[in-house]
Amino acid sequence: MADDCIFCKIVNKTLPAEILYEDDDVVAFSDIHPQAPTHFLVIPKKHIPTLDDIGKEDRSVVGQMLVVAADLSRKKGIAERGYRQIINCREFGGQLVFHLHLHILGGRQLGKMG
Ligand code: 5GP
Ligand code: ZN
Repeated sequence: MADDCIFCKIVNKTLPAEILYEDDDVVAFSDIHPQAPTHFLVIPKKHIPTLDDIGKEDRSVVGQMLVVAADLSRKKGIAERGYRQIINCREFGGQLVFHLHLHILGGRQLGKMG
């Protein structure tokens, strides 16, 4: 838990979110400003600021983020036609919230990367 981290507050339920899934290690919730018809985030409950801060001890939680993202994508009906997963890292990556999060975007044809 990091003070003033909005995603830690979502983990702790002190900030409301549309929670899609939760277990001991991760939480998934809808993005508040969706960039596609389906846009949700999967985060570790542990406060890891950026992708550059993950270590070997985080292998299982990072793997679980991908498994949960894939499961929810199938449940939401975006898997068949496809979707995109993104993790932004720091300034050049366009990261705005410094608690690791995986974006899942689907439900429309997405543009080229870059
Ligand atoms: P980043 O640019 O850091 O990769 O993406 C942060 C994402 O978090 C953005 O897509 C933004 O819409 C989302 N976001 C920011 N604040 C909140 C919030 O309070 N609740 C939810 N559900 N999403 C948020
Ligand atoms: Zn946090």
